[in-house]
Parts: sequence; structure tokens; C-alpha cells
Amino acid sequence: MAPLPAAAWKFPTKIFRSEVSNTNRQLRLQNRPKGLLAPGDLQLIESPVPEIKDGQVLACVKYLSSDPTMRVWMAADTYLPIVPIGEVMRAIGFAEIVESRHPDYKKGDRVTGFTGLQDYVIVDESAKPSFQKVPKIPFVSDSVFLGVLGINGITAFFGMEIAAPKKGETLVVSAAAGATGIIVGQIGKFHGCRVVGIAGSDDKCAWITKELGFDAAINYKHPDWKEKLAAATPKGIDIHFENVGGDIMQEVLNRMNLHGRVVLCGLISGYTKGDPGLASFGTVLVKRLRVQGFIILDYASRFMEAATQLGRKMFGKLKDRETIVERLEKAPDAINMLFTGGNTGKLIVKL
Ligand code: NDP
Repeated sequence: MAPLPAAAWKFPTKIFRSEVSNTNRQLRLQNRPKGLLAPGDLQLIESPVPEIKDGQVLACVKYLSSDPTMRVWMAADTYLPIVPIGEVMRAIGFAEIVESRHPDYKKGDRVTGFTGLQDYVIVDESAKPSFQKVPKIPFVSDSVFLGVLGINGITAFFGMEIAAPKKGETLVVSAAAGATGIIVGQIGKFHGCRVVGIAGSDDKCAWITKELGFDAAINYKHPDWKEKLAAATPKGIDIHFENVGGDIMQEVLNRMNLHGRVVLCGLISGYTKGDPGLASFGTVLVKRLRVQGFIILDYASRFMEAATQLGRKMFGKLKDRETIVERLEKAPDAINMLFTGGNTGKLIVKL
């Protein structure tokens, strides 16, 4: 869209920059990581905070979402292009507008979108489609717009729409104590499913059963986890919400009932290995499974609908937890924590 003529803008001609720091710290991609991120793969660069032009706003980033897919964006062209070497690392963030020369935004407005790993981001017409204004909700942390009311809640919502759960069915979710898994499991309970989570520690398993209401939880790091999964799913498995891939996916598929549904949301076990982490299609064939992959960006036009529904449920019933890492410099460690199980619930970097 072409910018409006300057005369159309209604903002004070003098912009006060007293609240804006002079320096924009950015984490730029320096090397394509091998395995987990190594020191220097993301390099901290300081540059001046840019002056905005007509049609632009300057937003100060407050929270950054740590998402497993960031590791994918560093390594390959997938549903989004690979992040070029030397560019600010792509990331979803929550930011507050500090200066505006755009009629749709005013100082103090709050937005989520592709802020990148940096202190300040310029939003203009080219960046605007990825940004969404968000309201202030009393007694609720702003970071909720990156988790339950952000990418993870919305992913769980649409993934469970694909799953179409019915009362009495058995639902298994992997990475069950993570940001997406906890919402998937709770939505499964709202629908009257038997919900079994797979997670990587006894503490996580205890939390999702005792606090979140999952019927059972299996620690996949215990040597007898497959027997425990069998015991927890005596009637087989009707729905599998897959976040992990590899051995976990294969074992769950082995226990699926005929004509079961598999929602392929993520395959995190392969992201640091460059391996798709897929299970056997022989099992899909023999069990006549319906497997559907999805990418949340496909549902962009329905994000508000999902956030509204989740918001209503959250105030009533949905529970969550955040793992907070402080400071931009720690964002690379936060990304690695996703692959070592260092987070419970949503992993947020607070700037
Ligand atoms: P989580 O908060 O769930 O964090 C990732 C968790 O995955 C870790 O805490 C860890 O928990 C588990 N994990 C990591 N490596 C392994 C492994 N090798 N084997 C088993 N478990 C592992 O992250 P998200 O909720 O953000 O993402 C979950 C999944 O959803 C990811 O695969 C992600 O790519 C996908 N996703 C897909 C979207 C889409 O549009 N399709 C959108 C958003 C997310 P533990 O301690 O249990 O091992």
C-alpha cells in the first residue's frame, strides 16, 4: 500500500525521544548452527535507534517468544525463508509503541508480531501484516499474548479443531508440559477425552496431572516408558497430537486404534539434527490413520476468533505457567533450553 500524503497524518510534528534509548541491541545470525546454538552463532550488535519516517512507528520490545521453529529458520527454507546471515534473528515479540508517524497506531499501543531479537523494531506497511494490536487485560501479564493467547494457544486451538475430539476418546500429546502441549491437553479435557501426556521429567508429569487435570503422564526418559504408555492407554489411542517425532511418535502410532487421527504439529526431536524425525508410514498404512500437518500461519485470518475463545476459557479454566529468562543476551540460551527440556510451559525472554 502506498503511504498516505504527509498532509493526511495527524500527529505532533515534534517527536520527543526522551523515553527512547539511543542504542538498539540486536542479535544477528552469524553462523548456521550445528546442533544446539554455540556461542557466536547469534552475535550481539549495537546500532543507533533509527529515526522513523512518515508511515512508520517505533516499538520497544518488552518480551520475546522462544519458539523451537527459530532453530529451523536458522537452518533451512521451510514455510518461511531461511534467515540470511548477518540479519536480525526472526522472532515473535510483544512490544509497545514509543513513537508513531502512522495513523493506525499511537504511543502506548501494544502489539505482537515479528519483532526480531532486538530492543526496538520499526513497523511500517511491509511489516504491518504480521503485527496485531493487543488489549491490556487487568491482572494478566502481557506475556500471555505470546503464549496462551499467542502462538501456542492458537496452535493448540486450531490443531485440536483438526483433531475433532469426541467425548470418551483417548488423546495423547507429546512435549505435554510445554507451551503448546499444556493447552492441547486442557482442550482435550474440555471435550471429555482421556488425556495422556508425554514429557521429559517426573516434575513435569506431576504438574500436568495434579494441576492441569491430565489423566496420566509418561516420563519418556524412564526405561519402561513404553509399558507405562500401554498401561495408560488401555483402549488404545484415538488422537495423537505430535510435537516431537522420532521414537516417541513411532511408539504412539504403534498404539493407535484403526482410523485414528494424528495432528502433526511439530517434530522437535529432529530440529537440531537436520533430520525430519518422522515415524514409519507403514504404521500409518496398516492402521489406516489420517495424518494432517498444519502451520499456524495458514489460520491468520482466524487468530482473533481463537484468541477470543481461549481468553474466555482462560479466565474460567485454562491454566498455564511461564519460564522467564531475563535479558536479550540470554535469548540464545533460551532457544537451547527448548531442546534440553529446560522450560515448563511457555519460555519467554524478558527484556
Ligand atoms: P515447548 O514449550 O513444548 O518446548 C519444547 C519442549 O519439547 C521441551 O520443553 C522438551 O520438553 C520437548 N523436547 C525437546 N526435545 C525433545 C526430544 N528430543 N524428545 C522429546 N521431547 C523433546 O515448545 P512449543 O510449545 O513452542 O512447541 C512444541 C512443538 O510445537 C514444537 O515441535 C514446535 O515446532 C511445534 N509448533 C508448531 C506450530 C505449527 O504451526 N505447526 C506452531 C508452534 C509450535 P521435555 O522436557 O518434555 O523433553
